[in-house]
Amino acid sequence: MTEKRTELSTLGEFGLIERIAEKFVNIQSGTKLGIGDDAALISVPSGEQLVVSTDLLAEGIHFDLSFTPLHLLGYKAVAVNLSDIAAMNAVPRQILVSVALSNRFSLEAIDALYDGIKQACKEYNVDLIGGDTTSSRSGLVLSVTALGTQMPDRIVKRSGAKNGDLVCVTGDLGAAYLGLQILSREKKVFEVDPDMQPELNEDHTYLIQRQLKAEARTDLVYEFAEKNIVPTAMMDVSDGLASELLHICKQSNVGVHIFQDKLPIENVTRLAASEFGLSPVTCAMNGGEDYELLFTVKQEDYDNVMKLEDVSIIGVIRDASAGKKLVLNSGQSVEITAQGWQHF
Ligand code: ADP
Ligand code: MG
Repeated sequence: MTEKRTELSTLGEFGLIERIAEKFVNIQSGTKLGIGDDAALISVPSGEQLVVSTDLLAEGIHFDLSFTPLHLLGYKAVAVNLSDIAAMNAVPRQILVSVALSNRFSLEAIDALYDGIKQACKEYNVDLIGGDTTSSRSGLVLSVTALGTQMPDRIVKRSGAKNGDLVCVTGDLGAAYLGLQILSREKKVFEVDPDMQPELNEDHTYLIQRQLKAEARTDLVYEFAEKNIVPTAMMDVSDGLASELLHICKQSNVGVHIFQDKLPIENVTRLAASEFGLSPVTCAMNGGEDYELLFTVKQEDYDNVMKLEDVSIIGVIRDASAGKKLVLNSGQSVEITAQGWQHF
């Protein structure tokens, strides 16, 4: 079966922008003017601040189209940006998406990309209010800018963690990294023998989903408001828990003790790690792309935090002089570094 292929040149740049605009309907009351003019117009709820973040994704660097369906790429590009807005404890409102495309991409491919973007807009309740479209000599380049709003006293930076604060993380860690290992392995098998069926089992489905369909934990922003919690520091886990912990420690000028037995690691992640000869702890600490939220709260918020679903308390903030340590089940502790360890 050959798939339908319509060349982008049949539409032209303006035709393409119109086609994109037609797919999207604005839902945020703050969106006063969306796609179509020289700039978009937005209004910010009274007293709130505008929270802005941007990400650039380049083919071959940040994604591999040989195993990433375009609609999932579109979805993920939006989700990872909204994850940054959530990491400031802000409510995401609007996004702008810019693309550089080569004639390698058909209209059907671009439709798939924007279907994913649209699905994410719907899921996270945000409007696509503009962007830019240009050509590229080779790969696909995708840039997403996200806008959110929040009251200044609820905005959470990386710099507010204090000695004694509890260190918490949402969801589970390490799965997305193992999903990437599986996809890369199957790609190699496929390159050697295109007739070979990828060896995917049900356990792998979760891991691959964690890699390909990243979700932003915007739900926590609402949960924090409901439970009356304002974390003292927060960031999202994109580069790996260890790296994010080091950022919080540096920017808050504190140390941290994390406990191995408290790390939220799914059984399927442990199994896949052993399949690849990797330590599940290393995958959780250094894997990355989990897009969970890492945050610290005052100890008096303990009862409130326990009421949050899907949140684990994994450690405690210490004075900077106490260092940044992972306390192993054996009782020994190792220095937290941004690279993997050989210790396990
Ligand atoms: P300009 O020449 O000023 O850059 P464009 O023709 O690129 O204007 O854009 C016209 C309108 O279409 C603007 O509102 C812009 O934000 C929007 N737009 C352009 N490309 C995209 C895109 N890829 N996705 C969403 N909106 C877009
Ligand atoms: Mg433009």
